[in-house]
Amino acid sequence: MTISRRGRSIIAQGVPASPGFAIGTVHLLRPEARVIKRRYIAPEESKQEVARLKNALEEAKREILAIKKQVLHDVGEQEARIFDSHILILDDREVLEGVFQDIETHRINAEYAFSSRINSFLDRFENLSGGFLKDRMADLRDICDRVIDILTASESPRTIQDIVTPIIVVAHTLSPSTVSQFNLKTTLGLVTEVGGKTSHVAILARSLEIPSVTGINLQELGLEPGQTIIVDGTAGLVIVNPSLRDIKEYEIKKAAYVALEKELFTLRDLSSTTLDGKYIELSANIELPVEVEAVLQYGADSIGLYRSEFLFLTHETIPDEEHQYQAYKYISERMSPRPVTIRTLDAGGDKIVQQLRVSGEANPFLGWRSIRVCLDNTDIFKTQLRGILRASATGNIRLMFPMISNLNEIREARVVLDEVKAEFEAKQIPYDRNMELGCMIEVPSAVVMAEELSKYVDFFSIGTKDLIQFTLAVDRSNEKIADMFEPHSPAVLRMISWVIKAARLQGIKVSVCGEMAGDLLSAIILIGLGIDELSMVPGSILEMKKMIRSLSFVEAKLAGETILKMTTAEDIVAHISQKFSHLLDLNSEKKVRLVQPMGA
Ligand code: PEP
Ligand code: MG
Repeated sequence: MTISRRGRSIIAQGVPASPGFAIGTVHLLRPEARVIKRRYIAPEESKQEVARLKNALEEAKREILAIKKQVLHDVGEQEARIFDSHILILDDREVLEGVFQDIETHRINAEYAFSSRINSFLDRFENLSGGFLKDRMADLRDICDRVIDILTASESPRTIQDIVTPIIVVAHTLSPSTVSQFNLKTTLGLVTEVGGKTSHVAILARSLEIPSVTGINLQELGLEPGQTIIVDGTAGLVIVNPSLRDIKEYEIKKAAYVALEKELFTLRDLSSTTLDGKYIELSANIELPVEVEAVLQYGADSIGLYRSEFLFLTHETIPDEEHQYQAYKYISERMSPRPVTIRTLDAGGDKIVQQLRVSGEANPFLGWRSIRVCLDNTDIFKTQLRGILRASATGNIRLMFPMISNLNEIREARVVLDEVKAEFEAKQIPYDRNMELGCMIEVPSAVVMAEELSKYVDFFSIGTKDLIQFTLAVDRSNEKIADMFEPHSPAVLRMISWVIKAARLQGIKVSVCGEMAGDLLSAIILIGLGIDELSMVPGSILEMKKMIRSLSFVEAKLAGETILKMTTAEDIVAHISQKFSHLLDLNSEKKVRLVQPMGA
């Protein structure tokens, strides 16, 4: 969070979680301090203690199902599904077996054993690669609190239904169950310290159209009950003690936003087709199964990239076939009949899976990562392929291999896949025999060899983050050279064009699933170069659809040809900005970008 001052007003920059604007008074929700005492139990008590915990888990499940039913009735099916993953946590064998074991071997009480395990998970999440799993932490905390409440039979102070005056709810953290019980007529906005753009609370807030900002340090900002604040959920700002001018300005913004939002959501079920009839598939990038809800909320045509490594990153051990199968099945069934592209494990670089960690690599991004790790660990690779193939029986899964850098890799990966398929045939396990196979193009050598590579796959997906990094020799995590990370560099765009031409020769489809795909200006270029699919964070889909529906494909194609002759990024950006200015500033109020937690 950063803070600036303007006269009496204090402006805090946090993280935009749900777009829109709210002006109102602060209602502070203070968490009750909870001390969970450790109590030693006699050996003969341990069975009883385990049973007590099992009962509490069942009770928690019943409560969540009741909330789910209420949300289903009051909000909708998609939002009610949020609570399915809470139930999944309560059924997580890995966590529960550990807790039962702790009770029995360390002879400690159920609430202490349960909360300690959950806290150690929360600590792990906190420490994982920049804390990108923070969004799931609120869910875990919510579940933990619920189970502890039941075990200690404490009254839950979670609801604020009774409040009748309009308020902005300010809290350290909020749970989806709390938010689902808010009085929508009086809750104007939310400000939290913890949570993220993909948290369940954020998803729910977006469904309920409650503007929210997260990542705000409440203590530093010194918020007091009754204070007037502005919540700018679009830019992620909280303005404390706003001036009359601020209030006027935000009232105007709010009116414009509401009108635009209404218009964007009318596009949800319309086709993303240009004025002259060119259809561009708009798909979503996700890291976790729970994000499917946001994908559906924003009406994506498909999932263009499911980063399956996050399943591995959130587990202490490599997830087994059954666990993986359940995750893949959940996503494909929720999305069906819309396609789901599952990318196989892309570990390494900045995504460290503990069991596959190599220390001392001087250049981890150029090191033992991604498909290289899988081809060296065919047992892990095959386990994942089995999970994916089993789930493919739903008929809408596309499989994709990451970071292919030479022909041997795609050949070897296909051999492993064929071996697993042969196993399935022998055992008569159902799977989709027509499942499409693709590979990522994110290494310059794959670009150069695209024509040959295209013979082995049904589609290409260009990972622009890695491709730009490798092509321009710019480590994008290095702040000193951040301005050299230039997606519109002619070198990068010529490479993309080269890949598209190679794919055309073979008649296969090309998608872009890097962050570039979600940027309006870049998308015009990519469409002009001939891309078939753009895969982006779910929150960018509607404004992209709006732009595409106002775009002339013929003009984009002409622009594509022109920029391929240009020699600097500045010229290219200036040309597109000028030619398509009418499309680029059209959504200036809707700048919420649900940017990937990992940067992308
Ligand atoms: C990319 O490199 O652009 C990409 C989509 O892969 P990831 O972001 O998962 O590395
Ligand atoms: Mg990549």
